[in-house]
Amino acid sequence: MSHEVDQPTYQVPGPLSRFDERDSVFARERLVPGSPEEIAYHTIHPELVAMDARLARFIHTVDAPAQSTDQLNGALYQGSFGPVAALGQPDIVDGQAADGRLEISPAAATLRIKSLARHLGADDVRIGPLNPAWIYSHRGSPPFFDHYPANPPHFSGVEPGTGGLRWGDPISLSHKTAISMAFAQDRALLRTGGTPYSDLEIGRVYANSALVATQLAAYIRALGWSARAQNLRHYDVLLVPVAVDAGLGELGRCGYLIHPRLGANLRLVCITTDMPLDTDLPVDLGIQDFCAKCLKCATTCPSRAISEGEPVEVRGVLKWKLDEAKCLLYWGHLGSACAICQTVCPWSKPPTLFHRMVAEVAVRVPRARRMIVKADDLFYGRKFSPAPPPHWG
Ligand code: SF4
Ligand code: SF4
Repeated sequence: MSHEVDQPTYQVPGPLSRFDERDSVFARERLVPGSPEEIAYHTIHPELVAMDARLARFIHTVDAPAQSTDQLNGALYQGSFGPVAALGQPDIVDGQAADGRLEISPAAATLRIKSLARHLGADDVRIGPLNPAWIYSHRGSPPFFDHYPANPPHFSGVEPGTGGLRWGDPISLSHKTAISMAFAQDRALLRTGGTPYSDLEIGRVYANSALVATQLAAYIRALGWSARAQNLRHYDVLLVPVAVDAGLGELGRCGYLIHPRLGANLRLVCITTDMPLDTDLPVDLGIQDFCAKCLKCATTCPSRAISEGEPVEVRGVLKWKLDEAKCLLYWGHLGSACAICQTVCPWSKPPTLFHRMVAEVAVRVPRARRMIVKADDLFYGRKFSPAPPPHWG
């Protein structure tokens, strides 16, 4: 059932401004004291020195789980996340478009791209206009630090110092269209709750989604159009608002996209391109009202990182502001990613006929939303209770 609307459901009270990727906690937790990046960043942001030192200290426990006493399971992290980094290499996510561009109608190109995305493994795919406000202003992701171990020469074909690839470089992107894809995570493994098994599943979906994004982008370039895969470790754009504009779902209180069938239990990737494609409309699933009544992710979050209050203005958009540093510090405490908010969300249920009917009622009948939240609490519990690990020996 289509729930398309002309405008996305988020409100924009102020002028939109771009996010500097260097401000992301995933960039800040990698700042090595005394490195050129750390000195440059903390000269501008002295107020973050203490917090970033905490982030850097904690994250090492997430990065070195194989040194834990449970090596059999701790190594699952390296097994799942280690090879994925290769799919974020600059010469894998991007490249030259082929000579001899194929001229094709937007309708035919859209049908081909969406069909291929689904065949390669995407659980959903939609296409939207790329709002320039969702493009990061500056590069900040760790692989592009001067002395980071994963820097070139590991990135074959890309010379060190290549413009636009180093920490602090301004990011520019001329693409006008974004192909957003959603990939479901295995709910049973995610529900083990911050364990090597949930890490493995998150890594598996990151890897599969990155592979599909890079394959599809390479296909578009082979047709003679510019295309850039936006996947793990190497993003030019903010994936959630881009996906919202394409109608994959709505932004939820927990900061994740809420998809009508997959809920928050998903990973996103996208491809930005100049290929002429038909764009989809955004959707209104009633998530803003549902989240106002629900709060389950916020009350369940072990680090209290999710707002229980009202939406606030963030770079021009009204949204529930996540405290990313609290969230990441909790991951450090756990030694794994957490993902409790993704699993407890009432929308993150298996897509059985029953759950799809309930979701449809939630979309169409605002008065039923409180009752659905209560029913979810009754059947699944208001608090998070971890599922048992799989029997893998
Ligand atoms: S991942 Fe865990 S700690 Fe982070 S916001 Fe979600 S529930 Fe909270
Ligand atoms: S758990 Fe509830 S409040 Fe949180 S994102 Fe899901 S629907 Fe919204």
